[in-house]
Amino acid sequence: MAQIYDLVIVGSGPAGLAAAIYAERARINTLVIEKGMVSGGQVLTTYEVDNYPGMPGVGGYDLGTKFREHADNLGAQFAEDEVIRIEDGGSVKRVICDHETYEARAVIISTGASHRKLGIPGEEELAGMGVSYCATCDGAFFRKKVTAVIGGGDVALEDAIFLSRICEKVYLIHRRDEFRGAKSLQEQVFAKENIEVVWDTIVDGIAGTDRVEALAVKNVKSGETREIPVNGVFVAVGITPASRAFEGLVEMDHGYIKAGEDCRTTCPGIFAAGDVRTKPLRQIITAAADGANAVTSVEHYLMEN
Ligand code: NAP
Repeated sequence: MAQIYDLVIVGSGPAGLAAAIYAERARINTLVIEKGMVSGGQVLTTYEVDNYPGMPGVGGYDLGTKFREHADNLGAQFAEDEVIRIEDGGSVKRVICDHETYEARAVIISTGASHRKLGIPGEEELAGMGVSYCATCDGAFFRKKVTAVIGGGDVALEDAIFLSRICEKVYLIHRRDEFRGAKSLQEQVFAKENIEVVWDTIVDGIAGTDRVEALAVKNVKSGETREIPVNGVFVAVGITPASRAFEGLVEMDHGYIKAGEDCRTTCPGIFAAGDVRTKPLRQIITAAADGANAVTSVEHYLMEN
């Protein structure tokens, strides 16, 4: 254990890299711990990003790489390791990783979240080619097209409503005969003429060669199978925050680390930024904004402690 850093940032997606950029500019002695060999988080596997201001249509991989280069050019230090847990020793936090233990006065957790997958044929092969996990991000690519949303929670209902304004038609495919999502959202769904709810139905496969062409679906009550031709499919069956390593350290809500816009958690000196934090909108831009806000809170914390 060579030194006590002022700040350790766990995770190198847009939140972690924005935090690294702000920390370097603030001359805070910082180490970024990243799990994989490449930085960027979920952005890296996004085919095209069309809602990041000033960079219309940028490839996800290119944007993630640019974030990393920016942090590198400012002198950010990175370590490749996996965090197992964090111990709160008051003024010094111990970040216990697979290979090493690091010590820091403050920690920003920016480990992100991952979209739950269906695990059906075609899902992985056609990801980014019509299979999407984010209607706000990718909906605009399906203007006047036919799409399907899979799921019955708040996100699926919101996605279907959002897409109904862009697409010619939206199938909302749910495995049961009632939605889990909010009643107010259900009312909006039922009022939309171009949303067709397909109840009691599971999707067995996604077909297409280099674009999504159709869904193979099965009615779980009648056993009837059929194909629904679509140009795109939005999977909205829940997301999983990457927060297990921090259970017991900070308070959580459904696995999301409880923190406001200042990114302060219930544990002083521990901050949460990006998709892993409780927040209404999980996007690259809100993750990057969190990184900036978190470092501002860290600066105040370091001055006060
Ligand atoms: P969610 O509430 O967990 O809903 C997931 C939906 O996907 C459920 O309808 C579930 O079906 C379905 N599902 C799960 N696995 C499936 C599978 N393998 N095949 C087919 N369907 C599957 O997740 P969410 O909609 O992402 O929302 C996450 C959390 O954020 C929730 O607590 C939600 O209330 C909250 N949220 C709130 C708002 C808001 O307040 N405006 C907006 C967005 C999200 P079953 O119903 O049959 O289980």
